[in-house]
Amino acid sequence: LFLDAPLEAGAEVPAAPGQGHYLGTVLRRAVGDPIRLFNGRDGEWAARIAGLRKDRASFVVERRLRPQAAEPDIRLLLAALKRDAMDWVAEKATELGAALIQPVFTRRTVADRVNAARLAAIAREAAEQCERLSVPRVAEAAPLHAVLDAWDAAVPLLVGDERRASPPIARVATAAGLRPPFGWLVGPEGGFEAAELDDLRRRSFVSTVALGPRILRAETAAVAGLAALQALAGD
Ligand code: SAM
Repeated sequence: LFLDAPLEAGAEVPAAPGQGHYLGTVLRRAVGDPIRLFNGRDGEWAARIAGLRKDRASFVVERRLRPQAAEPDIRLLLAALKRDAMDWVAEKATELGAALIQPVFTRRTVADRVNAARLAAIAREAAEQCERLSVPRVAEAAPLHAVLDAWDAAVPLLVGDERRASPPIARVATAAGLRPPFGWLVGPEGGFEAAELDDLRRRSFVSTVALGPRILRAETAAVAGLAALQALAGD
């Protein structure tokens, strides 16, 4: 379970809101049962349930099971999508090791707002499920040009281009000897406008890449690109 509290041997720590219900009603756990905790900083810890009520629970921390490992800095930037697609991408990007999920607004982005707190909660649950010891940061949605203007030019940004005008992602990643940190940017359902692609290509850190000859849904492209990059250049 993810718990945003300092974890050390012997500490008694209160559960986060909702965890009492989750443990007691959903998982049918009881006082004294073992549980594993992480907070994104101190590694993974063995603990026991010390108190368990629907509205309040607590744990006693026992010993460290795994140290906190440095995780690859892989950043997913994607044009804001409809809620269900965004939820799905947040879950899958967490499983695939993204360190940052940055929703962006492009000219053809249809969704006009993103609930970053909701995505962060989904990312926390996905991190628990896949046993990673960190939770990706979900940034507030921002205009694409603002994110690009603030981008560190030393960090490569690969951009999904479905128009058959760009080399395959594997060729670009291999030729560049790509290693984290890097970013992966996917456009909206309607694609990038030509002027946006021109602006992207003018930036020294951008390479446009193809994920094969078929046009993928934006959410598929987000996840497929992360999987490819994870396999080619991740840890
Ligand atoms: N403009 C397209 C259309 O309506 O025919 C669709 C754009 S696609 C649904 C959304 C985004 O997914 C694109 O902007 C691109 O970033 C990414 N994408 C989709 N298929 C891709 C592919 N084969 N290679 C690279 N990126 C792709």
